[in-house]
Amino acid sequence: MTDPISTDSDVRARPGQSVVERLADPHSGPVPFSVEFFPPRDAAEEARLWRAVRIFERMNPAFVSMTYGAGGSTRDRTVRIAGELATETTLLTVAHLTAVNHSVDELRGLVGAYADKGIVNLLALRGDPPGDPLGEWVKHPEGVAYAEELVRLIGELGDFHVGVASFPEGHHRAPNLAADTGNLVRKLRAGAEYSVTQMFFDVDDFLRLRDRIAAADPEQGAKPLIPGMMPITSLASARRMTELSGSKIPPAVEERLAKAAGDGPEENRADVRAVGIDLCTEASLRLISEGVPCLHFCSLNFAKATSEVLERIGIDTRGALAGV
Ligand SMILES: Cc1cc2nc3c(=O)[nH]c(=O)nc-3n(C[C@H](O)[C@H](O)[C@H](O)COP(=O)(O)OP(=O)(O)OC[C@H]3O[C@@H](n4cnc5c(N)ncnc54)[C@H](O)[C@@H]3O)c2cc1C
Repeated sequence: MTDPISTDSDVRARPGQSVVERLADPHSGPVPFSVEFFPPRDAAEEARLWRAVRIFERMNPAFVSMTYGAGGSTRDRTVRIAGELATETTLLTVAHLTAVNHSVDELRGLVGAYADKGIVNLLALRGDPPGDPLGEWVKHPEGVAYAEELVRLIGELGDFHVGVASFPEGHHRAPNLAADTGNLVRKLRAGAEYSVTQMFFDVDDFLRLRDRIAAADPEQGAKPLIPGMMPITSLASARRMTELSGSKIPPAVEERLAKAAGDGPEENRADVRAVGIDLCTEASLRLISEGVPCLHFCSLNFAKATSEVLERIGIDTRGALAGV
């Protein structure tokens, strides 16, 4: 366990707590925050992950989440490491679970494996086709076709707390924003307690999604809608990531990042990083003023860039990065 930065109002997570309960705990900063990690592929990546985990643990995030990969050995490692996050740290752990290439029996087994590690918070996702996220989605013959079914399945298996994905620009496979909102509302009605959004660049897209859910179903609209954030540190990766998720970088943002990247053969990473942190800070401050329940940072298993944003929005990161 890592010593927390000591503040009077910080409360540590309790075992078995749900994300929604946790978001209501007192916190010292302007807003609760959470951090997303991905499963490491080898020992070096695993060491990097744990360095980041221990740094964030000192800042007492509301929760951390572990994404769910496509390959077999990665999957075993994911379950093991999510279990270690839950049992060997003070962090409330959310495990992502996808329907890709799984029968219902396998999905039941995975939920049980997480429960054995004390993980009761799951993010239920359909997942993307392995290899080409924009390619054709093929349902496992004995699996489920949509995240909504996974939410129901998990609900039948015990006392779990389920979150789902949401999409400020609309999911790329949804025919229009109304259909996309309808799907999110169905997932929430099926028992999801909150949603976490895909990363976005235009805060207005997030606010419009929030309005659409509230208009479609005020009860579901009252559930936490948690914005997914990421400080950009490379323009090339930001372009690749948005392309793979079927979303877009708005022209004004692209222009700021491209200017920082410069015209050289290699992008100017230091300047792009500075602009990326500015953009993420500006969006975070606006979202805080709009009363969001939490900011969810996709860390890519690094702590520094996210910590800089956290510090700039008024979260106490004192000493957390010492020795890094
Ligand atoms: C916060 C977050 C975390 C993520 N974590 C992971 C992860 O860990 N691992 C991973 O592989 N991927 C992850 N993803 C990516 C996600 O799996 C993909 O974006 C996927 O394409 C959609 O997943 P979903 O759960 O929203 O699917 P769904 O809600 O099932 O929706 C998929 C599509 O089907 C449509 N649809 C739903 N129901 C119906 C119906 N009855 N009839 C017709 N159309 C329908 C929806 O409108 C949508 O276009 C994450 C995404 C987000 C936002």
